[in-house]
Amino acid sequence: MLIKEIESLRNVIKDWKKSGYSIGLVPTMGFLHEGHQSLIKKAVKENDKVVVSVFVNPTQFGPNEDFNSYPRDIEKDFKYCMDSGASVVFNPSSEEMYLKGNCTTISVSGLTDFLCGSKRPVHFGGVCLVVSKFLNIVTPDKAYFGEKDAQQLAVIKRMVKDLNIGTEIIGCPIVREKDGLAKSSRNTYLSKKERKSALILNKSLNLVKKELMNGTLDVKKLENLIISTINAEPLAKIDYVEIVDSNTLQPVKEIEDSILVAIAVFIGKTRLIDNFTFELNI
Ligand code: AMP
Repeated sequence: MLIKEIESLRNVIKDWKKSGYSIGLVPTMGFLHEGHQSLIKKAVKENDKVVVSVFVNPTQFGPNEDFNSYPRDIEKDFKYCMDSGASVVFNPSSEEMYLKGNCTTISVSGLTDFLCGSKRPVHFGGVCLVVSKFLNIVTPDKAYFGEKDAQQLAVIKRMVKDLNIGTEIIGCPIVREKDGLAKSSRNTYLSKKERKSALILNKSLNLVKKELMNGTLDVKKLENLIISTINAEPLAKIDYVEIVDSNTLQPVKEIEDSILVAIAVFIGKTRLIDNFTFELNI
């Protein structure tokens, strides 16, 4: 079922709740790929009914970002969701989602100080606003988010805890292309040449993973290894390379416990992100 109005979706949810069904939610911006599908399939396995939202959320894009050019194909997405076992695709318009003169903002401090939070100042405010709207409309038992957007996952988990929202937030592993590139709707922006150079993200992370496993714990050395590897790729330009504590998302001086190694890199005009988490077992 394809639903575009909040009211209609609320009515469907009401009926489901009356019947005692458990509900899963998968929020997306559409142009779906196997990364999204892994979330949908997990949601289908763990819930009686699954809502996939497909909404390119204007409030999470900065003025010079790709809101207008972001790829969209709702017919294809709808079929993909139905084939993957979803019950409803929710595809509202911006006007349906946002009242004129919206007054409410949500800010999760601390966790948004670094990584994408510092490079995209309006981003997480927009993400929190739209996700809390979806959680309030769907009132799901569980909502599914990818570890590809590791900071987003941490921010949403914290927001849900702080606001006493009764939804369990589930993180799902990064799905990659065969050659290692993390799947992303934005990969469609890449030319053939750029697609090849985009492999540098995963390659640089793998080098650091290997170093960590060999016992290198010097943060600067590890960051520099990523920086020099990416800088050797002519089409790549670093937005950030950061090693942070995976719980607080604050930069670490020494590697103790669990860290998140996260990068954002422009390949031509396309900004791609990737990351991995490493646990130190002493
Ligand atoms: P997006 O449509 O890019 O906003 O992504 C919607 C959800 O799918 C987010 O929770 C993402 O983290 C997740 N996602 C996107 N790409 C991947 C991927 N390659 N692997 C796992 N999850 C992903």
